[in-house]
Amino acid sequence: MLQVIIIGGGLAGLLTAILLGRAGISTLVIEKKTYPFHRVCGEYISNEVTPYLQSIGLYPKEFYPPKINRLQISSSRGNINEIALPMGGFGISRFRLDHFWYLKALESGVKFELDCSASSFHYENGITKVQTKQGTFEAQVVIGAFGKRSSMDKYLNRPFMKKRSGYVGIKYHIKHPWDPGLIALHGFKNGYCGISMVEEEKLNLCYLSDRSNLRVHGDIDTLEKNVLHKNPYLAPIMASAERLFSKPLVINEISFTSKQVVENHMLMTGDAAGMITPLCGNGMAMAIHSAKILAPIVTRFFQRRSYTRVQMEEHYKKEWQSKFSHRLLAGRYLQRLFHHELAAEFLVYSTCIPQLAQWMVRQTHGEQI
Ligand SMILES: Cc1cc2nc3c(=O)[nH]c(=O)nc-3n(C[C@H](O)[C@H](O)[C@H](O)COP(=O)(O)OP(=O)(O)OC[C@H]3O[C@@H](n4cnc5c(N)ncnc54)[C@H](O)[C@@H]3O)c2cc1C
Repeated sequence: MLQVIIIGGGLAGLLTAILLGRAGISTLVIEKKTYPFHRVCGEYISNEVTPYLQSIGLYPKEFYPPKINRLQISSSRGNINEIALPMGGFGISRFRLDHFWYLKALESGVKFELDCSASSFHYENGITKVQTKQGTFEAQVVIGAFGKRSSMDKYLNRPFMKKRSGYVGIKYHIKHPWDPGLIALHGFKNGYCGISMVEEEKLNLCYLSDRSNLRVHGDIDTLEKNVLHKNPYLAPIMASAERLFSKPLVINEISFTSKQVVENHMLMTGDAAGMITPLCGNGMAMAIHSAKILAPIVTRFFQRRSYTRVQMEEHYKKEWQSKFSHRLLAGRYLQRLFHHELAAEFLVYSTCIPQLAQWMVRQTHGEQI
């Protein structure tokens, strides 16, 4: 029997798998897609995790990710400001990064079931059975790394699945002249759009919009022309850029409400444990950080007889809350502010006071790990 099954092979699932594999824990990742594939994501990774990734050989240096250290922020009324990002980050597509880590996971002895969706699970007497169309898999510990919204959330009847969430996320890769050190955040009515560079001088253009925008304007093209193009900084880029995808990637029903970190003995990591608003630009860093916390706790469970399942679960919950609760809350407030036109104007103005701007960044970011 396996020691660990991880449901979901995004950054949180892959990193946890690599760390467990390297510790000699038999690990299977069940992932519903096949690598490499594109995801809706702004693809800016905070340097909060860069030294850690370098130290464990997972920084994707072979793709020469651009280093990003300045934030440009604009409102739909045309106010604009630029601030330094003291910690900064780098840009890399999920297409490249997830595939790179998938190969590293294979090297670490991790097994994969790809194109395989987990539909339910059952825990009894220290063993969990995970059901998929391809069969049933058994392990002593099961980790939920299935991201922001999954059939597993539905199966678990998690409270946030009962409420309709108001946001849609849309992403393209584009080609357009750009300063590699810059990440832009352009506001529009009920949403915001990020632009930053990833590998090979491609740009990621990714926006989060209130679902009502799409309902009113009918389709993505009309939404962009009628709403996003009202921002005078965004309009010329969107109108003249070369689009590298035949059609945009879209995800619906994005929810930022709080979640349980452990449910029915399943240890949640990454967005499955709690999702920070993309405005903060550090959901991936959080996914990486949560895997860094989780893997040694699970390893200890297998190495020390005296460390019980209850202790493992309580220890993880406590660590997770102490590292992430504050920034999730701060992110929620910031998201609400940026979604109101007047409040967004105020936010852009407030970044003219460097101390205030840096304070806001600090509320949603952690220390370097
Ligand atoms: C619009 C938008 C922009 C963003 N921009 C940024 C940004 O610029 N910077 C940043 O740091 N963060 C950003 N984020 C957040 C970031 O994308 C997430 O925080 C991060 O991807 C979380 O990683 P994860 O491993 O938890 O989940 P994911 O990367 O979503 O991985 C979950 C995996 O689980 C799989 N899965 C789901 N259900 C099942 C199942 N039942 N069985 C098997 N597999 C399953 C999925 O296929 C997926 O591969 C953004 C998010 C959004 C929505």
